[in-house]
Amino acid sequence: MSENVGVKLLAVKGMNDVLPPDSAKWAAIERCARAVFHAHGYRELRTPIVEYTPLFVRSIGEATDVVEKEMYTFTDRGDRMITLRPEGTASAVRALLEHGELARDPVVRWYYAGPMFRHERAQRGRYRQFYQLGVEAFGVGEPTIDAEQIAMLVEIFTSLGIGGLETLVNSVGGAEDRPRYRAALVAHLEPRRDALCPDCQRRLGTNPLRVLDCKSPSCQTQVADAPSILDHLGDAARAHLDGVRAGLNALGVAHRVEPRLVRGLDYYTGTTFEVRVTGGDLGAQNTLGAGGRYDALVAELGGPATPAIGFAFGMERVALTMPAPATEFEPKLDVYLAAHGAAARLACLGAARELRAAGLVAEMEHRAVSLKAQFKRADRLGARAVVVIGDTELAEGVIVLRDMQAGTQERVPRAELVAATQQLRERV
Ligand code: AMP
Repeated sequence: MSENVGVKLLAVKGMNDVLPPDSAKWAAIERCARAVFHAHGYRELRTPIVEYTPLFVRSIGEATDVVEKEMYTFTDRGDRMITLRPEGTASAVRALLEHGELARDPVVRWYYAGPMFRHERAQRGRYRQFYQLGVEAFGVGEPTIDAEQIAMLVEIFTSLGIGGLETLVNSVGGAEDRPRYRAALVAHLEPRRDALCPDCQRRLGTNPLRVLDCKSPSCQTQVADAPSILDHLGDAARAHLDGVRAGLNALGVAHRVEPRLVRGLDYYTGTTFEVRVTGGDLGAQNTLGAGGRYDALVAELGGPATPAIGFAFGMERVALTMPAPATEFEPKLDVYLAAHGAAARLACLGAARELRAAGLVAEMEHRAVSLKAQFKRADRLGARAVVVIGDTELAEGVIVLRDMQAGTQERVPRAELVAATQQLRERV
């Protein structure tokens, strides 16, 4: 388009490239999470990145921030309303029902990983495209699975070396408890309407529970002495929350009940939870992972009554919080192959392939540059060893193997290339 000539091409605001070495850290986080998911019997679900818009409107809720103002929605060429997924649960429920999974097995455990999209105010730890990993378990209503999922989240973060974690649990009650609490909360907030932020003044009529976790200081003051949901839970919700806590205690997961923890999506029933990191520089974005029960959603979307629970955590926040530097997760270069001359370069191709077949990380120099430049590069890349091949070596059937740590080198018969390089790698 001609009007764009000369305009610098940039990524869309709030959407980030992930370059090396950060991408290696992301891969390590994903490996860790997958190992924990697999160990708990969760299997991978992959769904499309777009869905028909009504799926999200019906599941997340019309009066939520996500649906009201954050979805990337457009009409496709067939005039259908399409939305870039803002979260993973709705698609999981849609797939569960579309493929009749519950008929095959009354208990379905899935995990997913991928980008999500919300048009939020972009800041550190909050982006418009972000990467979530999450789990969903369908068909289990017992509180032990709630405790197990919370413990999974804590296990993932802990094994990634993240300290200072805080686990918060709450219950937002069932369909029978919520209206009573909602009425009590509105009665408390209505006389203070003028002190609430404009968003919460509106929420008072649509979704008053959301006022509880509004970040605006004036709203926080107004809810400080608001009635607690815990005083409005019926016997079933109360017993369930006690069961979750007993499970967490059995698993040794330190936690705290936070009655103001309501989460931003309408589908939650009963248990809600968050794992936050204290300290650090994420500010209000310190919730690493969160989730809860959504026992009514499967039926609301047309399926059989099916209890369900899930969580998701954000890759970006976890990567920002993890203490280890990203470079630690990059593969170490075992051997760099330096060639002197075109014939030697051809010989390096095969030699490098042999080394890789033996499990070594090997990189060869393809450019016709001086040996000095090649050693400089090997050094910069942190290669453990350098193999040098030139015309003399080719003629004699040997290679030169240099130990980059010790600064020594030896001539080794070509046939012993792999064994000698492996030996050197093992040497401390
Ligand atoms: P939610 O889906 O809103 O319950 O969020 C679950 C987790 O996803 C949060 O704890 C964050 O780690 C992550 N997350 C949610 N929204 C964003 C965002 N806009 N940018 C980055 N991470 C996010």
